[in-house]
Amino acid sequence: MRGKFAFLLCLTSFVAFVSTSVSAAAGADLVINDVTVIPMDKESADEHQVVTIHDGLIVSIAKHSASQPGSNALVIDGQGKFLTPGLVDAHAHIIPLRDKLKSQDSRYSALKSEAQTSHPYDSAMLFPYLREGVTTVFHLGGGGSDVLELRDLIQRGIILGPRLVVGKLIDGPPEAVVISMHKAPPPSSIEHPETARDGREAVKLAVAAHYDFIKSYQHLNQETYDAIETAAHAAHLITVGHLPELGCSNCVSPEHPFLVPMDDIAHAEELGRYAMQDDLDPSRLSVLTDWVLRSHSMLTPTLVSTRSILYMYVHRHVPPLPEEVLLTVDPITLNAWLPEHTRYLSEDFRTQPGIDRYPAGFDFDRVLTRQLFRSATPLLIGADAPTIPGIAYGYSVHQEMLEINSLGLTPYQVLRAATVTPHELLGEGDRAGLIKVGQRADLVLLNANPLDDIRNARDITGVIVGGRWLSARRLREQTKENAAYFGRLERKAGLMADRARYLKDSRSGSL
Ligand SMILES: [Zn+2]
Repeated sequence: MRGKFAFLLCLTSFVAFVSTSVSAAAGADLVINDVTVIPMDKESADEHQVVTIHDGLIVSIAKHSASQPGSNALVIDGQGKFLTPGLVDAHAHIIPLRDKLKSQDSRYSALKSEAQTSHPYDSAMLFPYLREGVTTVFHLGGGGSDVLELRDLIQRGIILGPRLVVGKLIDGPPEAVVISMHKAPPPSSIEHPETARDGREAVKLAVAAHYDFIKSYQHLNQETYDAIETAAHAAHLITVGHLPELGCSNCVSPEHPFLVPMDDIAHAEELGRYAMQDDLDPSRLSVLTDWVLRSHSMLTPTLVSTRSILYMYVHRHVPPLPEEVLLTVDPITLNAWLPEHTRYLSEDFRTQPGIDRYPAGFDFDRVLTRQLFRSATPLLIGADAPTIPGIAYGYSVHQEMLEINSLGLTPYQVLRAATVTPHELLGEGDRAGLIKVGQRADLVLLNANPLDDIRNARDITGVIVGGRWLSARRLREQTKENAAYFGRLERKAGLMADRARYLKDSRSGSL
């Protein structure tokens, strides 16, 4: 989710769901036979391997001829196929239906019946992730605490979905940035801390509520920002976020956030914003690179989201999306993507001061991302779905992988950013992100080698999530069922025309 002034950025029923996934009988093994394994701890593949999965973990990897699967094992033929770790979306916003209903227009009250404990809407909404081979998703805030319940139900295998890693967003009062020149900022609170004490208290509450990490946002003053970073790290939580805003009386110096660093910077645009102060002077590239290197922060560039905003700014219509992907987008998200609901197509957005430098800012972000990667800053793949029109759950991970590929990273380097690195950020690299004995069985079976061409990461013939096997046919059938389910809800809520309107607008106009 982007700040207001970040112009450089900022089913069916649950029963049906379970029945369409196939898992090995309780206690039995799942075996991928004679497959080419891409373990991701080296830039090469191991042919003719037998990978055995038990209770959601990889328990053995052996040469094909040496292994005989047990008789009650579910055996998948991996001949001619490629096995990779599941992909990770390191920047998304997961707003469950119950939260969506709180803040949306009255038409959505027709969808209230879907806000059940079995989360039919939410599991259909998240299914595109599995369809696209994404088995772990970072939630970067927004909505309430319902996402924690969803995370736990998925973790316990009650709802089928990607593993959710849930961040608690902590931000000061956004309006303080604007009014502090003229008025005293509003009083500090734990919801919007402006003192170190309230910042620490906000972290304490997040820890007690079992959030997985802290997302610090950009309207924090120096003492509060420092207190949040320090308290989170003391509680062994990582921090991901926006850099503190520049330019108000109580804000940090530009270097400061790199001296008390967060673990991952949520957009390359955050760095670009700092360079805007100097009118994108290319000499700022080396200064910013030095600051980031000194901080040892990782970076989730989210370039595809910046590109989509730029697209809307230039073309004045919503970005195109393949129709088969558009059909997987839930009705409320789709409605928010319509041109009249998108601030990126609004007059306000188009006329804000400095907006004419937006395209140059995107170029700067790309060069800076490449420079940082060459200087050994680890990159992650994230797309900020679904806060920007056309940035759909799952599909956008592949779009961002292509963006990063286009900066000159090899397919292996891109794949690392989508598999190994996010788990290293979470401090769980020994348990997830690789194909090795003892690792989580979140895997993708592909028809073609992604080390040859990163586009092959979308040529999916099956997905394993938490040890559960979903064949291509099952993925297709569930996708079809979900589209029918969304269609029924759209009729119920009077949103039938939205999908056609999005398609029409995305195809409209020319330069
Ligand atoms: Zn975001």
